[in-house]
Amino acid sequence: MKRDYYDVLGVEKTASEEELKKAYRKLAMKYHPDRNPGDKAAEEKFKEANEAYEVLCDAQKRAVYDKHGHEGLQRGGPGGFGGAGGFSDIFGDVFSDIFGGGGGRGGPRRGADLRYMMELTLEQAVFGTTESIRIPTWGDCEPCHGHGTADGKKPSSCPTCKGSGQVRVQQGFFVLQQTCPHCRGRGTTITDPCKSCRGAGKIKREKTLEVKIPAGVDTGDRIRLTGEGEPGDQGATPGDLYVQINVHPHDFFERDGNDLHCTVPISIVTAALGGKLEVPTLDSRAEIEIPDGTQSGKQFRLRGKGVRSIRSSATGDLYCTVMVETPVKLSRQQKDLLRDFGKTLEGKEASHHHPETSSWLNRAKQFIDEHLK
Ligand SMILES: [Zn+2]
Ligand SMILES: [Zn+2]
Repeated sequence: MKRDYYDVLGVEKTASEEELKKAYRKLAMKYHPDRNPGDKAAEEKFKEANEAYEVLCDAQKRAVYDKHGHEGLQRGGPGGFGGAGGFSDIFGDVFSDIFGGGGGRGGPRRGADLRYMMELTLEQAVFGTTESIRIPTWGDCEPCHGHGTADGKKPSSCPTCKGSGQVRVQQGFFVLQQTCPHCRGRGTTITDPCKSCRGAGKIKREKTLEVKIPAGVDTGDRIRLTGEGEPGDQGATPGDLYVQINVHPHDFFERDGNDLHCTVPISIVTAALGGKLEVPTLDSRAEIEIPDGTQSGKQFRLRGKGVRSIRSSATGDLYCTVMVETPVKLSRQQKDLLRDFGKTLEGKEASHHHPETSSWLNRAKQFIDEHLK
């Protein structure tokens, strides 16, 4: 049983586009395969979130889903998101969209939309990039010159409709015009089809497309390339190609909207005495002034060192959270020094140097006195 797409993303049915995107980003980060190597359950969750987002972020598909549920989306297209397929299906591959073309019955069908999952590094997403991608394209079959016939000559016109593609059907008093059932409106029939293309006249090839990724994109953003999807029937427009962005987790920075976050370990000496600390930003470096007596968890904000928004000219900030690292593998001499130093903190001086500890000890003592006796 397929889970409800809104449940998958953990949003209300009335969720706005922005809320959907936010929820999706959270899940995509959490279950990203790079963060959960070899974890099948995470991989499934990742795919599930992808699929739910894919449908709900598209107003047209969302409307169909709201009205008819999963069933509604299955009509008219191949199963889409390859539940059986491996991960290579999702990354770097193009596959037909779940919507097999739309368009009313009878008339020429618009080509299906294609989706391309593009993996970007955080830097590429933040600064923009141009990526070449390989996508399928359809060209004239060479052996039959695009005619679809074994001899490569133009196919003969359809005997049923005499080449018009339409037939007249008497129904009671009325004469109705219908698409010719024999040639399905093409007007021609092929008795001896070409072996290379099985009569289609077209052969699937690959082409390289340069896709310009604007600076500031984030996981869940989609870039639409009009007309780069599958070709439609003759006379119909081709589908579109959607490039869906997935930003790779970064070693150093975590992105939250236009802000970046990172954790910086500092020694107890720096934490106690203060000092200058050099930290990397996405494109250069910056300095943080650590004041003396800095505690673990203190956040330093570097204004304007985040991500420039793709929608406005606003730029986010970089937040560095310091973590005081307790020294390990101390030598005997270092330990002795530390013990001697520790003694200077005891006695009357204790609450002066360790206000948090003193306050906690007092509260703990009170708690024990009142409740644990
Ligand atoms: Zn016909
Ligand atoms: Zn052919």
